[in-house]
Amino acid sequence: MTSKTIDIGLDEIFNLAKAALINHGANEENANAVATTVTNAERDGSVSHGLFRIPGYIKALQSKKVDGSAKPEITEVTPVILKCDAKNGFAPLAHQYGIKKLIEAAQKFGIAGLSIQRCHHFAALWPEVEAISEHGLVGLTSVSYMPGVAPSGGATALFGTNPIAFSWPRPGKNPIVFDMATASMAKGEIQIAARDGHSVPLGTGLSSSGELTTDASEIDKGVLLPFGGHKGSVIALMVELLSGPLVGETFSYETKERDNGDGGPAQGGQFILAMSPEIISGKDTSAQTEEFLKKYNDIDGTRLPGLRRHENRKNIDPRAVNSELINTIKKLA
Ligand code: NDP
Repeated sequence: MTSKTIDIGLDEIFNLAKAALINHGANEENANAVATTVTNAERDGSVSHGLFRIPGYIKALQSKKVDGSAKPEITEVTPVILKCDAKNGFAPLAHQYGIKKLIEAAQKFGIAGLSIQRCHHFAALWPEVEAISEHGLVGLTSVSYMPGVAPSGGATALFGTNPIAFSWPRPGKNPIVFDMATASMAKGEIQIAARDGHSVPLGTGLSSSGELTTDASEIDKGVLLPFGGHKGSVIALMVELLSGPLVGETFSYETKERDNGDGGPAQGGQFILAMSPEIISGKDTSAQTEEFLKKYNDIDGTRLPGLRRHENRKNIDPRAVNSELINTIKKLA
C-alpha cells in the first residue's frame, strides 16, 4: 500500500464504512454501531482502528465467522454481574447493549462488572471506558487477542497485544483516559509502520529468527515484546486471565486455535468494570481530583492521557486517509 492520502470528511467516512458493511450482509443496527466506532477512531486520530480495520471486518462477514445480524443478549447473573452474549457479533453493538446496563448497576450499587462473550473485538478500548466515565464512573477494561507477543525473556508468542484501558470521570470536562496495548506497540501500528516503510524503536520486537530489529516488516513476521520488560509482561499475563477465564472466554492461544484465519477479528471475551467514586469513597471526590490534576499539569513536559484524542476531536475538518485504503473500501461498498 502507498503512503499517499486523500482528504475525506467524517460523514463520508461513516457512510463509506456503513455501505461496505451493509453490502456484505451486516444489518442496519450492526453496521451503524461498527461505522460509528470506525468514524470516532478516525475523528480522534486512532487511525489503526478506523477505516484501516474495514477490510478485516468485511473478511469476517464474508467467511461468516461474524454474524452481521447478531443481537446481543444481556443476562443479570447477580445485581452487579452482567453477562453479554454477543452471539458471534461485532463488539460495538455488544457495547451499546451491555454498557448501558453496566452503568445503571454501578450507579446503583457502587461497582459492577460486565463479561462479554462470543464477541469479535477489533478496535480501540477507549470508547468503552469513556462511555462509563461520561456517567460519573471509573471504567476499566481489557481484551486479549491472538498470540503475537512473547513473555519477557522468551521469543515465542503467547500473549496477544492485550490492551487495557482506564478512565476517570471529571464532571463538566473530558474524563482522564488511558488506553494502551501491553505490547511495546499495537499490532495495527506495526502493520502501518511496515506498510509506510517506517522503522520502530529497538526493543519493540524480534524478527522471525528471534533477533532484535528496528524493521517493522521483520517484526510483523516475527514477534512483538511487552512494553517495559518484565513489568509489562506481567500486566499482559493479567490481561490474559481477566479477559479469558474470568469472563468465561479464551486465552489468546485458544482464540487462535478456534479462529478460521480469515484475517478478520477473532472471537473472544472482554472484561469491563465500572466503579462509582462517590459511592465507594462516600463523598464527592471531584475537588480532590482536580487539585491533583492541577499539580500534574503544572509539571513541565507532562500532559494527561486522552488529551491528544480530545484535542483531535475538536477538529471537524476532513481527515487524511491512505488513498489505496479508500479505493479498496469503495470497491467493497
Ligand atoms: P499509545 O502508546 O499511543 O498510547 C497509550 C496511552 O498513553 C494513550 O492513552 C495515550 O493518550 C497516552 N499517552 C501517550 N503519550 C502520553 C504522554 N506523553 N503523557 C501521558 N499520556 C500519554 O497506545 P498503544 O499504541 O499502546 O495502543 C493503541 C490502541 O490500540 C489502543 O487504543 C488499544 O486499545 C488498541 N489495541 C486494540 C487491540 C484489540 O485487540 N482490540 C489490541 C491492541 C491494541 P492519547 O490517546 O491522548 O495519546
